[in-house]
Amino acid sequence: MSSKWIELESQRYMSVAKRTPVVLVRGEGCRVWDENGKAYLDMVGGWAVNTLGHSSPVIVDALTEQASQLIHTSNQFYTVPQLELADLLIQNSAFDRVFFSNSGVEANEGAVKLARKYGQHKRNGAYEVITTDHSFHGRSLAMLTATGKPAYKQDYGPLPDGFLADPVPFNDLDAVKKATTDKTCAVMVEPVQGEGGVNPATKEYLQGLRDWCDQNNLLLIFDEVQTGVGRLGTLWGYELYNVAPDVMTLAKGLGGGVPIGAILCTEKANIFTYGDHGSTFGGNPLATAVALAVMRETLKEDLPGHAKKVGNYLQEKLNGLRADRPYITDVRGHGLLVGIEFDSDIAAEALGKLLEEGVLMNAPAGNVLRFMPPLVLTEEEVDEVVGKLAKVLDEIKAKTPA
Ligand SMILES: *Cc1c(COP(=O)(O)O)cnc(C)c1O
Repeated sequence: MSSKWIELESQRYMSVAKRTPVVLVRGEGCRVWDENGKAYLDMVGGWAVNTLGHSSPVIVDALTEQASQLIHTSNQFYTVPQLELADLLIQNSAFDRVFFSNSGVEANEGAVKLARKYGQHKRNGAYEVITTDHSFHGRSLAMLTATGKPAYKQDYGPLPDGFLADPVPFNDLDAVKKATTDKTCAVMVEPVQGEGGVNPATKEYLQGLRDWCDQNNLLLIFDEVQTGVGRLGTLWGYELYNVAPDVMTLAKGLGGGVPIGAILCTEKANIFTYGDHGSTFGGNPLATAVALAVMRETLKEDLPGHAKKVGNYLQEKLNGLRADRPYITDVRGHGLLVGIEFDSDIAAEALGKLLEEGVLMNAPAGNVLRFMPPLVLTEEEVDEVVGKLAKVLDEIKAKTPA
């Protein structure tokens, strides 16, 4: 696929993203269009960001109205959308306080700062945060150190202290217990690992972590940057497990496409005081006005409930494909964060063929495809995607005998 934009990217942009060869120019609902006018069903959803779909009037209205009023001030002053959003999040969660950042990695950095201050004052100077294998917490130096993917770290030493050199296996409570020392101040996990390949935590694991953190005066941090705001079929991922952390971070779905992140914490973990943390853009009127509109719509339309229903339907359909295709080894996830796993590395080839068929998809591993579409996805759209996926898989298997 030749395009002057693809050519320009290859010359001008840092080569950090392995991009799908398509230039997107427009979107509506769960569909996007490329520069040639070809339509695609979008199962990537901006990496689980576009919860309300593309060009949602809710977002367009909030954005344009706020832009005409007040785009940015600074946190030296009070602004209304920031405080309305803070109140709405607290009213609808297990937390007491919130701070807004611009992204997921910043929210996690702030959460780790909070945990370190907690350790400093409440646990004899403890500072280490236990994280897990296959986790993803972002790309700053500290968060790539926390992340359980060695390839992200190898050229960036010296890495900051305060994390395990080898993150512990996920869903292994004993490993967390063994890794806990006098230096430990917190445990940070994702309720469902997204980038790691759609790996759900077990209920016993998260409850075990909750109990362990309570017994040892550690903060439990849930990185809900990907799982928060309806993605798993509940408003927050922790609700699916009925295990509340002390600190929760959000970002991706919160703004529906406008950059915003958040740290939420309980009164117990609410240890920041004046000067401890800050951000120039974090929580500005434009971003928070849009996130407020997204949150109100999410609650009003019960998007978590919708995501649960359509997500179950999607898993049902994928399990239907699996019934007579034994090379499909797993279908997993919750709500509209779903993975389909194969017994060999066919994900990249499937992505290419799906693109031709007019479906955008993501592969977090060589043998896994991930669905993280807008939460407004319909069952008809599921039928369309699964039908095309079946065709693509059958084509791949027709030419590569098992
Ligand atoms: C995407 C993601 C991050 C990083 O968020 P950015 O906004 O890209 O910095 C952190 N944690 C999890 C679980 C994520 O999925």
